[in-house]
Amino acid sequence: MPHSFRVFATCDIGPALDVLRKRGYQLEVYSDPKAPPKTLILEKVRSGVDGLITTLRDQIDAEVFEAGKGTLKVVAQLAVGFDNINRADANRYHVPFTNTADVLTEATAEFAFFMLGAVARKLWTAEHLTRDNQWGFWHPYLPFLGDEVTGKTIAIIGTGRIGLAMIKKCAGFDMNILCYDPAYQNHEYAKSIQEMMDLRHARGIQKEKTWIKYVSFDEALGQADFVSVHVPLLRQGDSDTPTYHLFGERTLRRMKSSALLVNTSRGPVVDEAALAKALRENWIAGAALDVYEKEPLPADSPLRDPALEDRCRLFPHFASAGQITRLSADPDKGMAGRCVQGLIDVLEGNYGGDPKKMPYVVNKEAF
Ligand code: NAD
Repeated sequence: MPHSFRVFATCDIGPALDVLRKRGYQLEVYSDPKAPPKTLILEKVRSGVDGLITTLRDQIDAEVFEAGKGTLKVVAQLAVGFDNINRADANRYHVPFTNTADVLTEATAEFAFFMLGAVARKLWTAEHLTRDNQWGFWHPYLPFLGDEVTGKTIAIIGTGRIGLAMIKKCAGFDMNILCYDPAYQNHEYAKSIQEMMDLRHARGIQKEKTWIKYVSFDEALGQADFVSVHVPLLRQGDSDTPTYHLFGERTLRRMKSSALLVNTSRGPVVDEAALAKALRENWIAGAALDVYEKEPLPADSPLRDPALEDRCRLFPHFASAGQITRLSADPDKGMAGRCVQGLIDVLEGNYGGDPKKMPYVVNKEAF
């Protein structure tokens, strides 16, 4: 039976939207690639839409929920992170919101690994040398060398979904792994990785023995050649272990001066002014960032300082940007598919209409 639900998508999330059209939904898609103004979102919600499809660019808070009082039934977010949605407000208005966890885990972890490779092996600087016709000779160490990743020690900060996937990728590169997570420690997973490392060594697949262990934050920072961040953005008051500016002057100074920082989590987890200072003053050797305190990265960001160009790689919030990961209509493969399915589950009352049982609903505690 066709459904007559009205949905406003703040962004074109691709062919997965056809799933809704085929079901008879009245779908309006904001087609400009830039984010719509909040006033437009409020106007659409006020006009009585049943569902909103959102991205991390949209601020969804009490104002939006108030505008949709009595009509807005679901907010379906195309992302795993939902720091743009005020959870307390959603709960107060009893509106379930969904996210697209899991389907972007491997893509984000592999991109974090490639970012690490890019900054460690100086891929960008080396390609510039070739393109700018500055490659005058082959020489054992001039004009520069990179640092190998294989065999080094990495600290994984946050061992949730993406952190664990990153661990798997690093283990494949014969790396030692320091784990830090104050809230969730997956010792079973670490044990299995250790068994795999031992087997690879025993069978001669990797020459050196490698290890994985949970340690304190300071130990992780002090011992790692590379630090990769995989935490949610939690501001003071959101959690006992806030992550806002987790990487600032104090923590950056704890890292080795030869170490590299990789951040694919959320921008405000890193104090960018402190990071730029750390890079300028060589407290650490380099950084690769995919996320920023303000996105897109402002033209006057200190991270754009040309003096840092050789050791600071900057990417445009791109870690989950793989074709299948972003667009597949299959909810087990693509963010778009999972986002649409989350919306359908709530509007069509799947799982007996109980949001607590719906796999993609985040704020189950409100029901
Ligand atoms: P997750 O919730 O599965 O894991 C996060 C982990 O961080 C949890 O285990 C949690 O206990 C831990 N944590 C919380 N506070 C911490 C602290 N103070 N110190 C260390 N660890 C702490 O989340 P996930 O799906 O793995 O996503 C991780 C991050 O990656 C999120 O911020 C998400 O928004 C971001 N992300 C970015 C992109 C991108 O395109 N760059 C794509 C996907 C996800």
